Amino acid sequence: MAEPMGYPPEIKKHIKIVEETRPERLKQVYRRLTLEEREKLLKAWHPDYKPGTKRPLRVGPCKGTIVYNEIANLLEAWPAIDPKDIDLSKIDYDVDVLIIGGGGAGASATLWAIYNGVPPDSILLVTKLRFGDANTVKAQGGIQAADRPEDSPILHYLDTIGGGHFANKPELVKALVCDAVFIIKWLEDLGVMFDKTDEGVMIEYPGGGACRKRLHCAKDYTGLEIMRVLKDEVLNRGVNVLEFTPAVELLTDPETGSVSGAVLWNIETQEYYVVRSKVTILTTGGFGRIHIAGFPTTNHYGATMDGVVMAYRVGANIRDLDTAQFHPTGVAWPEAIRGELITEKVRGMGAQLVNIHGEQFIYQLEPRDVVASAIIAECANGRGIVTPTGAAGVWLDIPMIEEIHGSGTIKRNLPAMYRQFIRHGIDISEEPVLTYPTLHYQNGGIEIDPYTRVLNPSKEPIPNLLAAGEVTGGVHGRNRLMGNSLLDVTVFGRRAGTTAAKLVKQMSTKPKLSFKHLERFMSELERIGVPRTRRAPIILPDYRGERVLLRSLRIL
Ligand SMILES: Cc1cc2nc3c(=O)[nH]c(=O)nc-3n(C[C@H](O)[C@H](O)[C@H](O)COP(=O)(O)OP(=O)(O)OC[C@H]3O[C@@H](n4cnc5c(N)ncnc54)[C@H](O)[C@@H]3O)c2cc1C
Repeated sequence: MAEPMGYPPEIKKHIKIVEETRPERLKQVYRRLTLEEREKLLKAWHPDYKPGTKRPLRVGPCKGTIVYNEIANLLEAWPAIDPKDIDLSKIDYDVDVLIIGGGGAGASATLWAIYNGVPPDSILLVTKLRFGDANTVKAQGGIQAADRPEDSPILHYLDTIGGGHFANKPELVKALVCDAVFIIKWLEDLGVMFDKTDEGVMIEYPGGGACRKRLHCAKDYTGLEIMRVLKDEVLNRGVNVLEFTPAVELLTDPETGSVSGAVLWNIETQEYYVVRSKVTILTTGGFGRIHIAGFPTTNHYGATMDGVVMAYRVGANIRDLDTAQFHPTGVAWPEAIRGELITEKVRGMGAQLVNIHGEQFIYQLEPRDVVASAIIAECANGRGIVTPTGAAGVWLDIPMIEEIHGSGTIKRNLPAMYRQFIRHGIDISEEPVLTYPTLHYQNGGIEIDPYTRVLNPSKEPIPNLLAAGEVTGGVHGRNRLMGNSLLDVTVFGRRAGTTAAKLVKQMSTKPKLSFKHLERFMSELERIGVPRTRRAPIILPDYRGERVLLRSLRIL
């Protein structure tokens, strides 16, 4: 087998200056920006402010709302199926609760529906890829909860609202921070192995935008560890899980307008299934794979915003989809892992951001959007390093962590990342990493209330439709803080399962199934002349490119 290549000489030559300036930088703490300076930086460089990247929606319940172009293309698209092809009289699964999405929110909702009395065999969890193939397993850094004497949910609340640019929905933030301590205890009791001292005290790290150390971690694979435990628990309870079977459309009761199930599509057999459910919970995660503003992404392969597309067609209100979170430190080199995440924990442990001249140019724990903007500005102003493939990046001086915390810290605390880079011939305990912002998180999404009921633009619940996790908007405003999303999926996943159980108990009759909600939506698409080839949900991204597609055979 060929040796992994490491940095090519044209990049490697720039490392010397990083090493030379390190001793001096170790003595410095870069000053924090004022609120005005942050705003100025964001307006000048953050993609959210770039002209031409957004447009108002022309159809649906939020007509006129401005969203990113890539999102508008999906919300203004024809259904993936032709309703005429689907026989709704043949019901394949008839359940109390349908959960769409097999990540952290879906698994949490499933468990809390069971704890609240829904029998496991009347729950169906469907997911696009395998159960657990999700953004949740990719989460590295940790989960926030204010459980130390010097901290409080009030401080957590203020950090979250400030980080979200005061655009968060206050009642959702209140639920997030107040449930947090209970959630950590629940996860620990289930078997999540959080990092602790030899005395058994939880080790907590700082995170960007947080005024206290409140990040609970399992090394640098916190999401994987949480998902391991949740998934085991769901499977042990005997819940029916359908893998490789995404939902492609919701169904509604023609008389009440309530959501009454979904159409599923088996990726392998290309068969469709009809599900009737008393309550449906959307937990389909985010949108990284639609590559907003052309950025690479940290997200898993199935993150294509399907839940928002389906909910919009049944009348859901959407919010904050004119903003996206670009994580400041995506991998810029090696090319094979470009866009993958370098966790914020690295900066929390002291790694500084350094330009081509070996200078620190931003305090590394400013909020994410501010750091991302500073890196974009540095590269645009010629102070970044250009890779052989033409990408730009700045240095993240990871080896300084060893100097601050002692030799061996990186292998011990960041083992997954250490292995990821060593496969490419880069030892991050000795060499800095080249980094550039990457599309990371769907800040906005479907509007919910604290009980996770999906709301329409008049703020009334759409009956029997719930949503939790990254598919929703409002918890994080216009910018999520690190560690608040694993918390979001477990806090609101729990609330969704609990609400679902209550709703099921109140329902005595089975709902009817129809595509009635699509009639008006499709006539709107017709009116504005959306091409029939534009369809959503897209289910999986297509990276084949025009040349390949032109020469491909349509076999089926
Ligand atoms: C690299 C990375 C690192 C992160 N680090 C952190 C961190 O340290 N701390 C933190 O708090 N947050 C972190 N996050 C964010 C956090 O992991 C996610 O926001 C969160 O886990 C999302 O959970 P979810 O259950 O809402 O969605 P996901 O975990 O993405 O699950 C969604 C599920 O729905 C499925 N699905 C999608 N469409 C359909 C469909 N049509 N039908 C059926 N199933 C469907 C998907 O396949 C997937 O299984 C990170 C994210 C990434 C990508």
